[in-house]
Amino acid sequence: MKSRLGQNFLIDKNIARKIAVSGEISQSDTVVEIGPGRGILTEELAKISKRVIAVEIDKKLADYLSGKFNPVPMHKCGVKIINSDFLKWSPPLKKKLCFIANLPYYISTAVIEKILSIDNWDTAVFTVQKEVAGRIKAGPGSKDYGVLSVACQLFCKVEKLFDIPPHCFSPSPKVISSVIRLRRTRKQPIKEKDEKKFFKIVKASFAHRRKIILNSLYTELGIEKKLLEKNLSDSGIPPLCRAETVSIGDFIKLTEKLTERKQTRLYKKNN
Ligand code: SAM
Repeated sequence: MKSRLGQNFLIDKNIARKIAVSGEISQSDTVVEIGPGRGILTEELAKISKRVIAVEIDKKLADYLSGKFNPVPMHKCGVKIINSDFLKWSPPLKKKLCFIANLPYYISTAVIEKILSIDNWDTAVFTVQKEVAGRIKAGPGSKDYGVLSVACQLFCKVEKLFDIPPHCFSPSPKVISSVIRLRRTRKQPIKEKDEKKFFKIVKASFAHRRKIILNSLYTELGIEKKLLEKNLSDSGIPPLCRAETVSIGDFIKLTEKLTERKQTRLYKKNN
């Protein structure tokens, strides 16, 4: 067991089944499992889908899983084991995917960021730390609201499904886990060309949580304060408020205003 790889294995089959079913997948869906470990969830996924791609970084585990699932040809058992770091792996782009995983906690945010940058998926079901689930679901006004909440909610409908107590894993983690479901929404809330600028502004706004948004943006982006004040007010954002009270819609308006007025310094400084 390698704790540095987040190896807390699920030992409760009922929970594994509940997670697999939460993906609402059908036989023809291609499921990508991140970190299959000893395969408790993989087995449940393979009962539902004819094509499961399981990406495991640990060679020993990948070999064990290949022995378990692949004596049967892939077309019969439907499971393909890939020994790779998911963060470096390129998912197939031509198939519609569904991601399901008990995520290794040390990379849960990075995995979510990665899948948000991919278009060809509909549903992701992830076990994450309860605290991370709280950040993903948080809305404006909550202390947990931040870049992760904005990124997930910009592209997805987010649901928290259920909690998993530590004793359902071996070894038991110190924290409670939560299962979340992300459903990729098809509507484009922001023009693709403005997406990079949007996240630059959101990240800058949250960079200093104790500062008012005007000062955070000024410090991070170096735009003149007067101009910033006007852009914020025109977007319906009080310049003296904190980023954690600003809705996604208002961040979009701010991006549009700053783009409209060609605040070239914003883009020169950080592009
Ligand atoms: N799915 C199994 C289960 O439910 O019992 C294992 C879950 S365990 C929390 C996380 C798994 O992710 C481990 O098997 C670990 O080796 C694997 N892992 C860690 N980092 C990874 C990475 N970057 N890419 C792919 N797998 C990774």
